Amino acid sequence: MLKIWMVDFAREQSPTLDHLYHYATIAQRSGYDALGLYLEHRFAFAATPWSHGKGAITPSQIEHLQAEFPSLQIIPFINLLGHFEGFLYTEEGREYREENFSGLQACPSNPKFVSLCEQIIDETIAIFKSNIIHIGGDETAQLGKCTRCQERMKGQAEDEKAWLYREHFSPLLQRVIDSGRRPAIWGDMFLERPDALKNIPTNTLIFDWQYENGVKETAPKFAGYDVIACPTTAVYNAAWMHIERTENNVRQCAQDAHDLDLAGFCLTTWEQTLLNPYDSIFPAVEWASAVADNPAWETSLVDSFGEAKEWATALGIELEKMGGVWAASGHRHKLKCRLLLAGNPFLAWLHHRDEVQNGRDKELLLIIEKSIHYAPNEECKNVSLALRAMVEALMIMDEAHKHYAARQPDAAISKLAPMRYLFESLAKLGKQNHERIGGSLADIERCKIAKRHIEICIQRIRDYENGELGYLPAFEVLTNHRFTPHDQACWWLVNKWANE
Ligand SMILES: [Zn+2]
Repeated sequence: MLKIWMVDFAREQSPTLDHLYHYATIAQRSGYDALGLYLEHRFAFAATPWSHGKGAITPSQIEHLQAEFPSLQIIPFINLLGHFEGFLYTEEGREYREENFSGLQACPSNPKFVSLCEQIIDETIAIFKSNIIHIGGDETAQLGKCTRCQERMKGQAEDEKAWLYREHFSPLLQRVIDSGRRPAIWGDMFLERPDALKNIPTNTLIFDWQYENGVKETAPKFAGYDVIACPTTAVYNAAWMHIERTENNVRQCAQDAHDLDLAGFCLTTWEQTLLNPYDSIFPAVEWASAVADNPAWETSLVDSFGEAKEWATALGIELEKMGGVWAASGHRHKLKCRLLLAGNPFLAWLHHRDEVQNGRDKELLLIIEKSIHYAPNEECKNVSLALRAMVEALMIMDEAHKHYAARQPDAAISKLAPMRYLFESLAKLGKQNHERIGGSLADIERCKIAKRHIEICIQRIRDYENGELGYLPAFEVLTNHRFTPHDQACWWLVNKWANE
């Protein structure tokens, strides 16, 4: 059974060659046959010279990586319809979009896009020696949104979207086969639209990703195709990683892969961003390889963290038990996203202030402080320090609001002032993660943007708390990016469409 570890480089990871060697070493040492590089726009394709963000992986890095690790298959995971957003939101890439300034899918009815897909496949095959070439295909939720697609697919089949999907992907998969390689594609769209599987070349490998339970129910639906069972480390929805959910998912997928005699096992590891560095989960990667061989392997996931076990227990088990925003859910971690993604950390206060009320803040800090105490290295410590700063930021905002509501502007400002330094220290953690393991460059900027916004909000409190407007804007209004003095009714909010 083929064992793959897939690393997600698309969340702004910027690995040096040494970092790539480090990933490959972990993969090899753990017993994986292959290292998957999930790329999206983070590969410097010659066909898209306009998409090479700073730190994108280069063809030369791949040549070196392949030469240095000849026994490890380096599998490219490229995206040729959905998850094209890193291209679509550049000036040159916007012409390929399915919808205007929305979503993450390109238009399969745009001949220029189809031609670009062909160029990307040809280039990928020329650079990567891997037998398997994974061409994406997941999460194409915008199928048939544009008028060109609607006209094309009308009346073509009972399930027109399935038709559109397979019309796009069948020739691309065949192109990989014609080059003497084996194509691979994610399975989710076939599960959603079974008719999409018609005409898909039977030599295609289906990567069936199921992040809860296993693939027992889904893999048999791909009868006639070789299937790879894909569990994940539950990170995208976690403060750090949900231990129990990860353990169940990996063990169940491994068991199903054995029971159903599947072609392989691929541990997907997604979204080590928002100040959660990749190297903090490396022990889980090694553990999953052993479980893939033996689903009943006696070592538990948390035990596999060795000297970091106490740290992992605090952040991966105890924090989850706090419930609320810390619980395992199907949603990306809301507190982290609201603090860091939109450039306005006060959104986190608006939605999650109950996390630091009624003594909950002390309980959270106790768990996080414990993890700091036990953190054996920089990668673990940085996760903990970032989480502590996030909880402290919520506490600061909540206290500042109380003073603001009580018309104590000086007290509100003096509460908010240290929050600037919190985000400064978060930016430093981001920089360390970037230098140590090629972590997100955007994380550093996110923290700087948040800090600037806090300064703006402090100034607004100075300017408007004295009654100058004749009314006191609600705290979430004053701290919003779109706050406009005298727009008491918030027409920027009432007319949300004008901001789309
Ligand atoms: Zn279209």
